Amino acid sequence: MNEKEIVKWLREDDPDRLTELFRKADAVRRDHVGDAVHLRGLVELSNICRRNCLYCGVRAGHSTVERYRLTADEVMQGARLASEFGYGTLVMQAGEDFGLEGEFVADLIRRIKKEYALAVTLSLGERTEADWRLWREAGADRYLIRFETCNKDLFRVIHPPVGKDDLGFEGRIGALRVLRGLGYEIGSGVMIGIPGQTYADLARDLLMFRELDLDMIGNGPYLAHPETPLGRAAEVLAKNPGAPTDERRRLTAEVGFDYPVSDDPVPADNLTAFKVIALTRLLLPDSNIPSTTAIATNDRLHGRVTGLQSGANVVMPNLTPTRYRALYEIYPNKSATTESPEETHRTAIAQIIEAGRIPGTGPGGRIR
Ligand code: SAH
Repeated sequence: MNEKEIVKWLREDDPDRLTELFRKADAVRRDHVGDAVHLRGLVELSNICRRNCLYCGVRAGHSTVERYRLTADEVMQGARLASEFGYGTLVMQAGEDFGLEGEFVADLIRRIKKEYALAVTLSLGERTEADWRLWREAGADRYLIRFETCNKDLFRVIHPPVGKDDLGFEGRIGALRVLRGLGYEIGSGVMIGIPGQTYADLARDLLMFRELDLDMIGNGPYLAHPETPLGRAAEVLAKNPGAPTDERRRLTAEVGFDYPVSDDPVPADNLTAFKVIALTRLLLPDSNIPSTTAIATNDRLHGRVTGLQSGANVVMPNLTPTRYRALYEIYPNKSATTESPEETHRTAIAQIIEAGRIPGTGPGGRIR
């Protein structure tokens, strides 16, 4: 598939042709990674962040968020639950919090590896190569860092630099290569329907997944958070869907924000997310592809299951202690924010069964 063919699929609205696409992606998924759905327990370590990403609810500039950082014991409880529930992996994610010191994280990794048979995935943002090496040597298996969009202008606008050590777009792609060089399995992905993104951008994102030969590819619809600059701009744009580009540019400038407006906007919806999952599966048949929380948030009843039926083979149940979940509000109404870990677990298993699949066993790494 080239860019043009991918764009054509992303725009496809004929139900029969779409059914065909999803059926094909599901068959490729079955042939290459089987029926097992790998479960990755997610622990949101900290919502402290030094960055100001325009879309994210835990950006440093969002001053009314109560900030937290889990204790080592709280993280270890998450690891214990993941192990008891039979998961193969613990994912530790956080804002870009340098208060999470390299050694603290390394100790956690060593403890988890010593006490449980879990693979460890990290999603802690842009850190120093020394930290990444330290964590790898401590036993971490995988690292997730999304490049969010391959439109460099858009990337620059939505990620205001935080200092001279800021990686920027090229640096983020470079980081993925560095991480792979350190022996990590690498994961990345994008948001779908970021205001300013075009269909051609999204098609290039998909080609970039293949070029990087990613082991894991997580994507989700962009969800507007009203307490963010981009969320406010998105609200204005959503209210004026038919407005011509000039008019929409004027409208975003009016909310105090000179924002690049797409003349060919991608909808931030689940149908587009399912097309992205399916096309990603066709491009990288043996990769691990989650049906993500953003998809589940958009459609609590069917989102995750439909994702699994469109080419995905991974789910990431949230095992963050319930009292902190609402604080990791990268977008509003995030699914599972009020549940106990047991409820979150039961829902995940029920959805895997509903999708006609079986819960995976073992670490669930990429098998080439
Ligand atoms: N600080 C880490 C983890 C970020 S949270 C890092 O930078 O890698 C994980 C992902 O959530 C982000 O990569 C982003 O793609 C997604 N995300 C953040 N805000 C979002 C929003 N408003 N809508 C949809 N996805 C969002």
